[in-house]
Amino acid sequence: MSTPEHAFAPRAELSLAPHAAPVDDVAQEQVDGIGPTGRPRRHIPDPPPLLHHGPAKILAICNQKGGVGKTTSTINLGAALAEYGRRVLLVDFDPQGALSVGLGVHPHQLETTIYNVIMEGDTAVRDVIRKTMVDDMDLLPSNIDLSAAEIQLVSEVGREHTLVRTLRPVIDHYDYVLVDCQPSLGLLTVNALAAADGVLIPLECEFFSLRGVALLIDTIEKVKERLNPKLNITGILATMFDPRTLHSREVMARVVEAFGEIVFDSVINRTVRFPETTVAGEPITRWAPRSSGANAYRALAREVIAR
Ligand code: ADP
Ligand code: MG
Repeated sequence: MSTPEHAFAPRAELSLAPHAAPVDDVAQEQVDGIGPTGRPRRHIPDPPPLLHHGPAKILAICNQKGGVGKTTSTINLGAALAEYGRRVLLVDFDPQGALSVGLGVHPHQLETTIYNVIMEGDTAVRDVIRKTMVDDMDLLPSNIDLSAAEIQLVSEVGREHTLVRTLRPVIDHYDYVLVDCQPSLGLLTVNALAAADGVLIPLECEFFSLRGVALLIDTIEKVKERLNPKLNITGILATMFDPRTLHSREVMARVVEAFGEIVFDSVINRTVRFPETTVAGEPITRWAPRSSGANAYRALAREVIAR
């Protein structure tokens, strides 16, 4: 394995030199229409409007590494699917509650969360789901209480199917349920995989990001075999891509080489716009509707609908 950049060289973003894409890259993209994955750009038209809604496809947004863009992708893919007329439920399945925070909901102020639905028979999921600022996109929030559920569930019968049972009463109302998983392969994540039709794996374009993916895919295969035969990998989403660095482009080439067609054509670039949206508590499609980040998640939504 070659290290593309000297380990002690200053990183590009620390340099005072103005940033600009290498001229060759820009020219090449214009001439041969090659996308950031190194494959030709394929145009996917806007999806047709739906005549009726549901039952929802459940997608688990999963990677046991933290900080790879799971929560950001859940919010922004959800908002983009809703723009295309799909009814979306976002499930915060991480006790950190970052998805709830990212939508402007303060977890410690919540009276009921997904925890109450899972652990207490008398709390209905419909009563805990809240609207978000995006039309047709709802949220099933969580907070730190959920970390107790992981421990309490261990001794329950059918512990891996708790989430699927929880979602059953509302599944017909939505077209997509996106489950934002915690950064581990523990019981909560296994519950998300046991409930899901597909897994979307955000993968940071960084040198070590490929390391954990084999373990994740192994877990997905075990869940498919033992708990949920319909489970498939919907796609791998390259995130935090910086087209200006050789490093990012090399990692991308390896990802495409390793995983082929399941890598989405849509790629999410690294931009400060995403941390900004977290502070704003809004999806990028609202915060910066015409930004390239918003358009990248719209392109991803078209791919997800087409797959
Ligand atoms: P995860 O849920 O996998 O832990 P997050 O979605 O919370 O990851 O992202 C981790 C951090 O990186 C957050 O501060 C988020 O705002 C930021 N981030 C996410 N996607 C991008 C991106 N494409 N470019 C720059 N920063 C990003
Ligand atoms: Mg997260």
